[in-house]
Amino acid sequence: MQTVKAFYDHTTDEPVTAEIREIRPVQDKTAVILDRTIFYPEGGGQPADRGSINGIPLLDVQEQDDEILHFISSDGAKSLNLGKAELILDAKRRRDLSSQHTAQHILSGMIFRMLGAPTVSMHMGDEICTIDVNKAGITMNDLYPVEDAVQNIIEEDCPIVTHLCPPEDIHRFNLRRLPPQGEEVIRVVEIGGYDFTPCCGTHLCSSGKAAMLRVLGAERYKGMTRITFIAGRRVFEESRILRRQAEGISQTLNAPVRELYPAVQALVQKTEQLERGLNLKNTELAQFRAARLLSDAGLENSTDNTKIYKKMFADISQNDVLLTAKIAQKTCGCILVFASVQDKKFCALTPDKETDIRPLLKKLMEDAGGQGGGGPQFFQGSFSDKAALENFINSVPERLED
Ligand SMILES: [Zn+2]
Repeated sequence: MQTVKAFYDHTTDEPVTAEIREIRPVQDKTAVILDRTIFYPEGGGQPADRGSINGIPLLDVQEQDDEILHFISSDGAKSLNLGKAELILDAKRRRDLSSQHTAQHILSGMIFRMLGAPTVSMHMGDEICTIDVNKAGITMNDLYPVEDAVQNIIEEDCPIVTHLCPPEDIHRFNLRRLPPQGEEVIRVVEIGGYDFTPCCGTHLCSSGKAAMLRVLGAERYKGMTRITFIAGRRVFEESRILRRQAEGISQTLNAPVRELYPAVQALVQKTEQLERGLNLKNTELAQFRAARLLSDAGLENSTDNTKIYKKMFADISQNDVLLTAKIAQKTCGCILVFASVQDKKFCALTPDKETDIRPLLKKLMEDAGGQGGGGPQFFQGSFSDKAALENFINSVPERLED
């Protein structure tokens, strides 16, 4: 005997009594089969309901071969027996899914009417929902008027009626998409004369209950457009999160909430300006540092290409160490091995295209527990602690032997 589908009429968390007809192990879970169910099985893009059977939480509900399988954990199934059981629907979740789904009908209907694009698939996620519509290149600018039209229908609070129609009479309805084949009765969901769609999902009883729909984005997808949206309470919750964030930014930047974008743009511009100035100063400082180092070591204009000049810098970053080394290399032909103690990193370089510094440095670095790599004329690496970096630098000889 088929399970009676009572999920269209039941939308609250009031307990309902049903009869457990069968308890069947399926892989690592257990499927419960009821005489009647208030739980919607996954289908038509809408996820399955959640809730409980005699207090045991539902993990999933699937319709397979004319059976509705209510999946619970096998541990939980041990406390269930055949016979009467109490079903409780997770009504809050159902309400959310029905809101998303109903709003999706209105959105798809308006996209079809206003942009001529039929919806080919829908996905309802825990946070956002998407529809794929068969027309490429739809932009947010195209969708703002659609969003307005959807909101008008929501505010009109028009009734949502389900027509149970035999297939031979289906031509009476101006359907947005083709009806399913092989059904004895087709469920046609009408939204106040605006949209007629064959659908087996759960819907709200009037459009106003969807409260609001916001389109969040539109992107190209397989030659179509994927449109992301949220509806119902999700819009309210998103609005609260965004407002809180905006107020935080507003206080930080000392700018009104509605003028945050220009304020952030100005801040980014200022930061870029500061960065450019800082880079210039860092380069000047590195030039000065390189000149003094080479002068102190008596290596300005040295052409000694086997001499290794090594130096550890206590309090500058590896970026500045590298900049200093590159500048020093322009006037010094020696091999330079420079390290930043604070970053526990080193770089080694030679201007001589005939010299290969890699074999020696790679071995010494690995012996000291470092990691890194590079080419014959440029090599760099890092260590997990400062002592290992110091051991490495100390192990580097004064001269690269042939
Ligand atoms: Zn539907």
